[in-house]
Amino acid sequence: MQRVASALGLAQAMAPELVALRRELHRHPELGNDLPRTQRTVLDALDGLDLEITTGREVSSVVAVLRGRGGSRAAGEERPVVLLRGDMDGLPVTEATGLDYASQEPGLMHACGHDLHTAGLVGAARILHELRDELVGDVVLMFQPGEEGPGGAEPMLREGLLEAAGRRVDTAYATHVYAAERPRGVWFGRPGPQMAAADEVRITVQGKGGHGSQPHYALDPVPVACELVLALQTMVTRRFDVFDPVVLTVGRIASGTVNNVIPDAAEIEATLRTFSPEHRERAHTEIRRVAEHISAAHGLTASVDIGGGYPVTVNDPDEFAFARDTVVDLFGDDRWSDMPEPEAGAEDMAFVLEEVPGAYLNVGACVVDDHTTAEDNHSPRALYDDSVVPDIAALLAELALRRTAALAAPG
Ligand SMILES: [Zn+2]
Repeated sequence: MQRVASALGLAQAMAPELVALRRELHRHPELGNDLPRTQRTVLDALDGLDLEITTGREVSSVVAVLRGRGGSRAAGEERPVVLLRGDMDGLPVTEATGLDYASQEPGLMHACGHDLHTAGLVGAARILHELRDELVGDVVLMFQPGEEGPGGAEPMLREGLLEAAGRRVDTAYATHVYAAERPRGVWFGRPGPQMAAADEVRITVQGKGGHGSQPHYALDPVPVACELVLALQTMVTRRFDVFDPVVLTVGRIASGTVNNVIPDAAEIEATLRTFSPEHRERAHTEIRRVAEHISAAHGLTASVDIGGGYPVTVNDPDEFAFARDTVVDLFGDDRWSDMPEPEAGAEDMAFVLEEVPGAYLNVGACVVDDHTTAEDNHSPRALYDDSVVPDIAALLAELALRRTAALAAPG
């Protein structure tokens, strides 16, 4: 079926407004899960559209449900539901771009380009609203805070995100801009694991303090902690397939006060990066086992706390292929680039993709012609090109239109 207007055409027509919105968001970044000003800006930008809007109880989220009016509407029919995600939070970075729309909030910056994601998702909402007579399902628009931490997806899931349309979301899509990794406008991603799980590991080796001259009356945690740090590295190389990597780095080890006092306890803190849910779970078990048993071998105990991290971001192979084909169809072959390896960064969207199949695609947004000379995401000098905003809007809208149509099609 030929549509009256194309998502890309509509996105290009509304580009000036979307860019203005992006710049307004860029001027006023906020941090974490409390984004009152950003939330208000998003609500204002959605004003006038026929949407069912709820805001978060725990966090400054916005969930908007857009009802399609296309296709048949037989009673009791299960119409497809697609979720589109845009994150809204900034970073504790002092902006040094010199842009005329640079951050006006001291010590805060949209250094990861989430302002482009938010404006892009508003654009998708406007496009889909325009084309809602052709939309044969419903769309859940997820404006999330806290992507950079402490995490906004989990509270949104607890508050019923996936059931917002009255039926469970069938599939979910999100995009992320990159300031330096690929040329401007080039989309990239991979099927399966795309980003790592990042977990914080805290181990306390519990001994018994005493006099440094008489260690046999004490249970010294210091040599046990040292042994444990090395044993953990050996465990990683001996217990895991190198082609599904596990990275474990002890970044902090702390114990004691002065040279002649044996302390009661030693603390170890590490970061764990894994690239498959299987290895993540097994790494947790192995770390516990090594910590407890090395300690036990010397008559001490260990308590292990692992958590706080985002899971592996996994692209469903079918949804990924569908999203990649949509990119190629919309923007052309030269706008797609395969991503051979996953990245060691982590992404809050992973919690949504654990619940429903979906795809997370990246797009190059550098402002210079040679992207290798650009500053990376999170840099105080990171720059993102405005032209990517309408592209994000068009792609998200197009994914929702095509996927609902495919899911609704009989057979
Ligand atoms: Zn980011």
